Amino acid sequence: MSDTLFIGGAWQSAASGAEFETLDPATGRPHASVSDAKAADADAAVRAARTAFDSPEWAGLTPARRARILWRIGDLIDEHAEELAALETRDQGQPLGISAAISVAGAAEHFRHYAGWVTKIYGETAPLSFPGVLQYSKREPVGVCALITPWNFPLMIASWKIAPALACGNTVIVKPAEQTPMTTVRLVELCRAAGIPAGVVNLLTGGPEAGRALVEHPGVDKVSFTGSTETGRAIVRASAGNLKRVSLELGGKAPSIVLPDADLDAAVAGCLQGALLNSGQVCAAYTRFLVHRSLADAFAERCAKAVAGMRIGAGSAPGTELGPLVTAEHRDHVDALVRSGTAEGAQLLAGGAPVEGMPGFFYQPTVFAGARDDMRIAREEIFGPVLTVLAYDDEEEAVTRANDTEYGLAAAVWTRDVAAAHRVAGAVRAGTVFINMPNPLDASAPWGGFKASGWGREMGSGAIDLYTEVKSVWTSLT
Ligand code: ADP
Repeated sequence: MSDTLFIGGAWQSAASGAEFETLDPATGRPHASVSDAKAADADAAVRAARTAFDSPEWAGLTPARRARILWRIGDLIDEHAEELAALETRDQGQPLGISAAISVAGAAEHFRHYAGWVTKIYGETAPLSFPGVLQYSKREPVGVCALITPWNFPLMIASWKIAPALACGNTVIVKPAEQTPMTTVRLVELCRAAGIPAGVVNLLTGGPEAGRALVEHPGVDKVSFTGSTETGRAIVRASAGNLKRVSLELGGKAPSIVLPDADLDAAVAGCLQGALLNSGQVCAAYTRFLVHRSLADAFAERCAKAVAGMRIGAGSAPGTELGPLVTAEHRDHVDALVRSGTAEGAQLLAGGAPVEGMPGFFYQPTVFAGARDDMRIAREEIFGPVLTVLAYDDEEEAVTRANDTEYGLAAAVWTRDVAAAHRVAGAVRAGTVFINMPNPLDASAPWGGFKASGWGREMGSGAIDLYTEVKSVWTSLT
């Protein structure tokens, strides 16, 4: 396969003819070849999306019809669930259980959730203080949206952007991460099969150059990006030309605060789950474990014991608990941070190195104890299977230290005390706080970050705000 650009309803290769290979992280070997889009392809996709935006086939479609198409995409994802899960595992590395239950099932749910919204995107009527005037507002699509996605949950994140964008009547150009394009290619095929008109969903497989071309393009009205904070900053700068609408879901360094009265067994189990899902390649992964000093040693030892027994293997192998990291480059990034932890004096209780003797990009689940807040492992986003335990003495100190980060995506608190749970949830500066649980997502719950973790909230009604412009219409009744 290499004609993987989908522009104006036609599959095609890059205008330059460039291609690249995508690797299976479990073997390190290429498994597919895809087109490498450049600026000329981005320009063609923007033109196609603009034409479709104004076309009667899309702009003239009733909300009820649009809702049916979105629902149908959800159904088609379900009908191809096994194939999509296997493809996600092959391209991204995640264990099949995750690709089936989270990536594929989640993708279908996002389409169904927003199928429901299509017929409920209401305006308002304001009680104006002008006599003889009727005012109403309505929500209109923003226009051509560039949806730029990362490599950790390619299918699900593409879905949670495409579904609300289409629900609101926009047209889109999807640019999946170069490391993991395959399930997005398949998703776009399913969108077309469900009856999405030509030019409404366009796809550019390619790297940062294709992303940059979209972000800079004057014909793009909105960018929705999920990825690193550094790239988020570059996108903000590059989108200034036509003052695009920009929403960003960026990095995180989620604190997990274990209060002294916490159920330790539940906290250890939930923290491990929250830290190690998809080998820690999750923006909301629990990574800084602020544990009350009375529990810190026991917590760290239990975590270390548990990770030492985990089954590491290819995502496609039955029983695998921890799959590979996405690329060799990313494994080296994780390894460099782990080494910095040891060099800066943290105590390594488990893991600490790539897995020897296996092809692919496997990394041992790693636990550090006795860490300090100024260490790189406590400050920088690792995006790998690495847990850092930090001891604290009182609740206020724990919250202050939890907030001592540029990020604010997610946080967790573990306690049996309802008042303490909500006190901490209120004091932590993060877009989502989980109390006594790991960190799942739901299409209904707002998702996004404070501070350098991003702009805007995806999912639920938040995404309707992101993908619409509000128009206020005044009428004289005299
Ligand atoms: P990583 O997590 O590997 O650092 P990024 O956050 O840079 O990845 O990438 C996430 C997505 O953003 C990918 O689809 C990538 O191709 C794209 N991208 C990278 N750089 C830019 C850029 N300057 N402008 C637009 N998109 C970009």
